[in-house]
Amino acid sequence: MHHAANDLAEPQRYRAVTRSTVTRTPQWELVPRELQEAIMVVSAVLPFRTNEYVMRELIDWERVPEDPIYQLTFVQPGMLKPEDYAAMARLLRAGAGKAELRATADRIRLRLNPHPAGQLTHNVPQLDGRRLPGMQHKYRETVLLFPSQGQTCHAYCTFCFRWAQFVGMDEIKFQSPSTRDLVDYLAVHPEVSDVLITGGDPLVMRTKALRTIIEPLLSDELAHVQDIRLGTKSVAYWPQRYVTDPDADELLRLFERVVASGRHLAVMGHYSHPVELETPMAQEAVRRIRSTGAELRMQSPLIRHVNDDPEAWAQLWRTGVRLGAVPYYMFVERDTGPKHYFEMPLVRAWETFREAYRQVSGLARTVRGPSMSAFPGKVLVDGVAEVRGEQVLCLQFLQARDPSWVRRPFFAKADPDATWLGDLVPAFGEKQFFFERGPAGVPRSVRRLAVVGQ
Ligand SMILES: *Cc1c(COP(=O)(O)O)cnc(C)c1O
Ligand code: SF4
Repeated sequence: MHHAANDLAEPQRYRAVTRSTVTRTPQWELVPRELQEAIMVVSAVLPFRTNEYVMRELIDWERVPEDPIYQLTFVQPGMLKPEDYAAMARLLRAGAGKAELRATADRIRLRLNPHPAGQLTHNVPQLDGRRLPGMQHKYRETVLLFPSQGQTCHAYCTFCFRWAQFVGMDEIKFQSPSTRDLVDYLAVHPEVSDVLITGGDPLVMRTKALRTIIEPLLSDELAHVQDIRLGTKSVAYWPQRYVTDPDADELLRLFERVVASGRHLAVMGHYSHPVELETPMAQEAVRRIRSTGAELRMQSPLIRHVNDDPEAWAQLWRTGVRLGAVPYYMFVERDTGPKHYFEMPLVRAWETFREAYRQVSGLARTVRGPSMSAFPGKVLVDGVAEVRGEQVLCLQFLQARDPSWVRRPFFAKADPDATWLGDLVPAFGEKQFFFERGPAGVPRSVRRLAVVGQ
């Protein structure tokens, strides 16, 4: 890795690196032969996209394939089941045609649970009986917005559950609501204090497009909308967005206008590993974001092979605090895509969190986790305890479909292999968790579901 001294002065053009261009990058020959083949085989099924900045500055090619950012951005052989891998490798070697490749790829994709359900039919807000696409209103005080122009990323994370969308398999195409609909909806929902603009990555949008979404939120009519968040990986994958992109300054002026309106603007930076904050460009992006009066927070999932290391988290949080990014959430990886490669048991996730948490000062202990974004709500794994001889997992909702569930402790059998809420059974011989009871209860069948959102 080298961090060139003139990084900050010289505008760099964003250049995506994909399956068809990766072989022309200077780093390609540093990839061992069998890994080169693996990249070609797996990316015939799962989309892959990175960029020159990530390749040049964040990946240590001497540590490939173990390098965490390599794992985060390059597809890995273990992401396909051995029989699927073999089938695809055979086709490629035999020089199979496009149609045959596509059919096999789709067959494999369908088995990877491409649809983290619960997102299309639930939580879609309505205005005058009309469903508003591209929005989600699950927790009383927060509306999520998925602008259609923000449905891609500067690089794809290998664990991303939106891959079905990226390969065009998913019928879930988020359309933006019209500005009018968005404003009208918020105007009649005074309980909404937070609007969270997410994606994909909304910061792939040009500032001009972002402005058409954000500026209407600043009207007097929407004084109850106090907090605006932008969920983004750009701070890690393309910090140039805030520094040298042609409309970077215009973006910062937009941030300043939000702050000047008396609102809280938070950039929710999806930092996965401390190396993402090491480059001068990344640090300059933090400085520039903060100079506008916006807050920067950090959140990301715990991913095997990427950041399943308490030291990495502790360092990430410490660096964040020092530079001005507030640690916010550690998430549990969702139940979709090549989860078998990336998932971690809940008990181990809690151990990793705890080992990291106990190394940092109180200033970094603003972080909460590990947290599952499950259908009934965000469930925090508090840890394992022994109660009258039974090993139990202590849990609580940080957010819930029903606000009365929040912060009510509940208990599951401490199953060391469970990786998601749906794997858990109630402790103490109970038949149901409290949130499954009664008419408002969430039935067991949907507990399995992961949901879109943060
Ligand atoms: C996490 C999340 C939010 C925001 O929750 P906070 O606890 O305020 O960060 C909002 N909507 C959905 C669907 C979420 O998953
Ligand atoms: S930044 Fe988020 S949406 Fe984009 S690829 Fe990574 S996980 Fe997916």
